[in-house]
Amino acid sequence: MNLHEYQSKELFSHYNIPIPVGFLATTIEQVKNYVDKLNNNAVIKAQIHSGGRGKAGGVKLVSSIDESESFTKSILGKFLITPQTGSKGIKVNKLLVEEATSIDREIYFSIVIDNNDYAPMIICSTEGGMDIEEVSRTMPEKIIKTVCSPILGVSNYKIRKICEELNIPKSLIPNFTEIVNSLYKLFIEKDCILVEINPLVITKEQKVIALDAKINIDDDALFRQKSLKDIEDKSQLEKLEIEANRNDLSYVKLEGGRVGCMVNGAGLAMATMDITKWAGAQPANFLDIGGSATVEKIESAFKIIVSDKDVEVILVNLFAGIARSDVVANGIINAAKETESKIPLVISMRGTNSEEGLKLLNNSNLDITTATDLENAANILKQKLSQGDI
Ligand code: GDP
Ligand code: MG
Repeated sequence: MNLHEYQSKELFSHYNIPIPVGFLATTIEQVKNYVDKLNNNAVIKAQIHSGGRGKAGGVKLVSSIDESESFTKSILGKFLITPQTGSKGIKVNKLLVEEATSIDREIYFSIVIDNNDYAPMIICSTEGGMDIEEVSRTMPEKIIKTVCSPILGVSNYKIRKICEELNIPKSLIPNFTEIVNSLYKLFIEKDCILVEINPLVITKEQKVIALDAKINIDDDALFRQKSLKDIEDKSQLEKLEIEANRNDLSYVKLEGGRVGCMVNGAGLAMATMDITKWAGAQPANFLDIGGSATVEKIESAFKIIVSDKDVEVILVNLFAGIARSDVVANGIINAAKETESKIPLVISMRGTNSEEGLKLLNNSNLDITTATDLENAANILKQKLSQGDI
């Protein structure tokens, strides 16, 4: 689960991590008020679940009320498109108005879970600011990675080494060390999978301040992070994602594809997407129905997939274990009839009750082609694409 920048910064301040003075605004009047309060020297920042706002025009330094008014008019209630949002963009409902900071240096600093070492990892760089992905591509030597011990945490000698590599001035080392320790504490206590400050700045007045903040909480730990779960901004999620969450399904929208993928299991989802691409098509989404699926759950899964306007064909790849093939088949048939969907389906079904499931599908009088396995399904997909059926 993602937090907004203003929510992340609120958490930072609970952990004594320095942030600029700021106010959250939802109207033009509030923005003008706050800019006035900050002596007409402010930065206005769109609060959306995406980075890259600076380059996309979502972050603006203003030095007058008029300037703040025209910027707010141009962005509040509008969709902001960044390289991370997809072509539709995300609606800006909230703006963070902060005192402007005079920057001396911009540092990149983050903590993530490193899946290779099964441990938290600090990633930092002297090249902070807007384009850390570009730095990692063109100057990988500028990215400093430090694995922390899940038991001992981040040791002081490791922080000292980081300070050295980041060229932190001697006088700021105690401040910087405190920030790293607090951030690590927050990371562990709030079950984060990512805490990112880009940029962590050294100001012209020689203070260390978190100018940006991004926090991602582990969904599987939300049951014990209730206060965070309660502040989730659902307006930032895709409508279909919310619907999927409600039905305990996991749905991910993908840009630019035409094939809807229904699968059971995340690994199978990845393999299904690979084979879809191999067949020469792009997945439009994938929907994981999980382990134990009821007819009702399959029906809602099917309805979510066909509500995606990009979907022109559906590939179902089921490896039935606990989920039974006949239950899935009945769910698909019911939902296809109910929605009067004309979208063709290619279905590979193996495992528990697969013969029964395939029989139901083949006798359904719907536009369904059954396949013997995933490779066969991909070939059918390929054939349909080359014949221009889809
Ligand atoms: P992002 O593009 O979504 O990551 O948004 P950021 O909050 O990181 O802002 C983008 C960039 O705007 C930063 O890297 C800074 O260079 C600049 N910026 C943000 N706030 C201030 C500020 O208070 N003063 C100055 N001079 N620049 C700022
Ligand atoms: Mg940033």
